[in-house]
Amino acid sequence: MLMIDGPREQGMRCQMIERLQADGIANAAVLCAMSKVPRHFFIDSALINFAYKSNPFPIGSSQTISNPYTVAFQSHLIDLKPGMKVLEIGTGSGYQTAVLLELGATVFTIERQRELYEKASRLLPQMGYTPNFVFGDGYDGVPSEAPFDRILVTAGATQIPQQLLLQLAVGGIMVIPVGNATEQRMIRIVRKSKTEFSREDFGKCAFVPFLKGTVND
Ligand code: SAH
Repeated sequence: MLMIDGPREQGMRCQMIERLQADGIANAAVLCAMSKVPRHFFIDSALINFAYKSNPFPIGSSQTISNPYTVAFQSHLIDLKPGMKVLEIGTGSGYQTAVLLELGATVFTIERQRELYEKASRLLPQMGYTPNFVFGDGYDGVPSEAPFDRILVTAGATQIPQQLLLQLAVGGIMVIPVGNATEQRMIRIVRKSKTEFSREDFGKCAFVPFLKGTVND
């Protein structure tokens, strides 16, 4: 694939960053990370004009790349510091994965749809991003790599999976949309001790559903 990130694309990206700031995103590390990731590489090249708009966008297999504001907001809430070990659930296009890597994290990312997993596993390394890709069911997490300093769920769950809470380090943070199929609340959980978890609600959001099992075609 021919990947061009010229003045036109960079200009659109600058405008996206300005819109995020106007919409209240003030986290400099997040804005800086998002200004570095060529978002249009994650979207079909015929649709490049849509890459930097404020909408989620189809990426195949009935899934979407989250809209820029959602990526910025989740990246802010997760409060990532360089060197932290992060588990991302829902690789999708791989865009959020790239942002986490730009924030200096070691990233494990899980996807349940084979086609998306394969696409992201090819694209990200071509761009110089090397997370650890896992094909599997995010409900299981990655027990062999736990504990994680941060867990970011990018699909809407009906409840908070116990398995994932147990894979969070003490002092660790999980951000997860929780609700029904059409609307969720953005929830941030902090593991206060081995047995105590705090929970904060950051308002309405809408993600594709967090589904059980894997899809191989
Ligand atoms: N972070 C992605 C958002 C993709 S949408 C991006 O920036 O593009 C959410 C993704 O979660 C979809 O790709 C969907 O297939 C995936 N997903 C849903 N349930 C899952 C599960 N149980 N395990 C892993 N991935 C899951």
